[in-house]
Amino acid sequence: MKVAVIGAGTMGSGIAQAFAQCDAVEKVYLCDIKEEFAAGGLAKIKKGFDKRIARGKMDQAVADGIVAKIVTGLNTIAVDADLVVEAALEVMDIKKACFKQLQDEIVQNPDCIYASNTSSLSITEIGSGLSKPVIGMHFFNPAPVMKLVEVIAGLNTPAEIVEKVKDISVQLGKTPVQVNEAAGFVVNRILVPMINEGICVYEAGVSDIAGIDTAMKLGCNHPMGPLELGDYIGLDIVLAIMDVIYNDTGDSKYRACPLLRKMVRGKRLGVKTGIGFYDYSNGKVATDKQ
Ligand code: NAD
Repeated sequence: MKVAVIGAGTMGSGIAQAFAQCDAVEKVYLCDIKEEFAAGGLAKIKKGFDKRIARGKMDQAVADGIVAKIVTGLNTIAVDADLVVEAALEVMDIKKACFKQLQDEIVQNPDCIYASNTSSLSITEIGSGLSKPVIGMHFFNPAPVMKLVEVIAGLNTPAEIVEKVKDISVQLGKTPVQVNEAAGFVVNRILVPMINEGICVYEAGVSDIAGIDTAMKLGCNHPMGPLELGDYIGLDIVLAIMDVIYNDTGDSKYRACPLLRKMVRGKRLGVKTGIGFYDYSNGKVATDKQ
């Protein structure tokens, strides 16, 4: 199987690695809007392998074999893909344009499956107006590690494609869970409002940052507290998902916390910008303790 991953960012590079590690996959095209972005995705994969090799957890030959399967470039290299997994930005128009160009101009394989890694957008809308159906194949971060794949059928996704994508997920060593199309699907519909509520609790002064995270870790056995998890996911992504769920349902219980919106406007996005609820410039320090 040849797989094209569109977008070589956080998720795209992880998804490319997960596929390249699978015996059933012979080649992975890791694509982005600039060749250097795609190469950057591969460099990230190699860096992760180098760390594991240095710790004696991976053989150099195994790492080389996986890396050798990955070819980087623009979306135009995906000519003979059997499966496309789109992991570009969470913007409807960008996703639709990617699939349109891939289906109409780039991919020559008539049986190619087109999947989106969207966190929250409608699969039916992404697929609307395209010549081939689209399915949701939602990985979790970090994609090589996390075991779940949410498989989402849009209104016009054939059942046969749903079954094929579930089989591919199993081949990757993941557990597929089929979910109906709904804003946020299952995981983000529950997880992201919880993070948002953690931010509201902080804004209301119920506890400080470390207090809220410690309470949820020790009181609920969560591996991370909601504020550190928001920082890790990216507060811009958390806000985008809240807005999608709110706009889709019209239910005020999904209103994004004003502090979350302010943090995004101030580019305090979490780990990726070096500061969110925690400051990562010198270790990890809660910003309300500075
Ligand atoms: P990111 O910003 O890290 O990466 C996006 C990449 O897509 C960038 O490198 C960008 O240059 C590239 N890109 C933009 N337009 C493109 C195009 N037309 N063709 C090819 N590449 C293009 O974002 P991310 O966090 O990797 O998220 C990607 C997708 O995965 C989003 O839809 C997001 O909602 C979803 N997702 C994210 C997470 C997460 O935890 N970050 C988890 C699951 C799903």
